[in-house]
Amino acid sequence: MKFADLKSGYQQSIAGTYSRFDLDVEQGQGASCQNAEGKEYIDFSSGIGVNSLGFCDEGWVKAIEAQLHTLNHTSNLYYTQPQLELAKALCEKSGMQRVFYANSGAEANEGVIKTCRKYSSDKYGPGRYEIICLHNSFHGRTITTLSATGQEVFHQHFHPFTPGFVFAEANNLADLTAKVTEKTCAIFVECVQGEGGVIPLTEEFIAGIAKLCAEKDLVLAVDEVQTGLGRTGAFFCYQHFGLQPDVVSTAKGLGGGLPIGAVLFGEKTKNTLGPGDHATTFGGNPIVCAGANYVVEQLTPAFLAEVTVKGAAITEKLLAMKHVKSVTGKGLMLGVELDGPASVDVVKACGEKGLILLTAKHKLRLLPPLNISSDQLDKGLAILSQVLEGIA
Ligand SMILES: *Cc1c(COP(=O)(O)O)cnc(C)c1O
Repeated sequence: MKFADLKSGYQQSIAGTYSRFDLDVEQGQGASCQNAEGKEYIDFSSGIGVNSLGFCDEGWVKAIEAQLHTLNHTSNLYYTQPQLELAKALCEKSGMQRVFYANSGAEANEGVIKTCRKYSSDKYGPGRYEIICLHNSFHGRTITTLSATGQEVFHQHFHPFTPGFVFAEANNLADLTAKVTEKTCAIFVECVQGEGGVIPLTEEFIAGIAKLCAEKDLVLAVDEVQTGLGRTGAFFCYQHFGLQPDVVSTAKGLGGGLPIGAVLFGEKTKNTLGPGDHATTFGGNPIVCAGANYVVEQLTPAFLAEVTVKGAAITEKLLAMKHVKSVTGKGLMLGVELDGPASVDVVKACGEKGLILLTAKHKLRLLPPLNISSDQLDKGLAILSQVLEGIA
């Protein structure tokens, strides 16, 4: 199909909820993909941090194919092996104790929020339900995860929201401490705010949160939907901080390109949700779990160390480029602040030259596949450098 026909077909038949770039993707392998006309792109986006092993990784395809011929779906009223295999691997690598499967980040976060509230209601009775979130956070697009999201721009049109969310400034422990009251049940953070502009929390701030949660018996909840599964060079980003949360959500990179989310429970919350408290029809689908199992198997300490090395090398190269003011983030989750050019214009220009990039607020955002080769990284960075050089 010609691109013009595809685009006009979309305008007619697909809801206009996304401002899409003029770019179609027909097929891909590893960190590159082609459009219908065969034009080649290097991918620095992984979907949005989803294709952790790139497009159609060979081993990942085989793992899914094998499962596809064995069992496609059964309800959560029965037992299946891929769910258990994945849960064991996730717990072993994260220090968490139990897993609930969802299908997306927002859904995993709904599970986190229910867990925070139920933990408190079981132990302290009603009235202790407030969750402290951070300004500039992003937790999803359902009404309740939007309520937990600290960015006004997402809040137009959809009132009223779920009550019980209070916002503190990121990296301001005094502000956060002041927001804790007798109604507080949990603190919910991203260790690196992704959609908010790739802004890492400081070690002092995270240590302060852990201390507050321990002192007041608050549930320490971490959103690892974007930062999880090796993206930042650790299995989960909280591990960089020596933190052990009470509940964790993850999703994007987990399935390697298939929709899956998960809630991970620590010692404190592992018995909080019981029969009838939470459920989802598709959660823990065996095919999706087989894909996730393959992804998780690849995330060895050596693989994660490579992610860190690549991230440092990219950062150094970015900082040497024209118009680059700062680079933030961890591992292969990087935000680039420019000294003038609008990031959307840069992303468009890069797209025309064959590099797929993302934005996060006013920044460029890089989320390349975790296994991208240094050759492909250099090719992509050369395109970005060329685009930035061409801007006065
Ligand atoms: C993307 C994202 C979500 C929402 O995930 P969906 O799968 O789009 O529902 C939640 N939290 C964070 C930190 C995210 O980056």
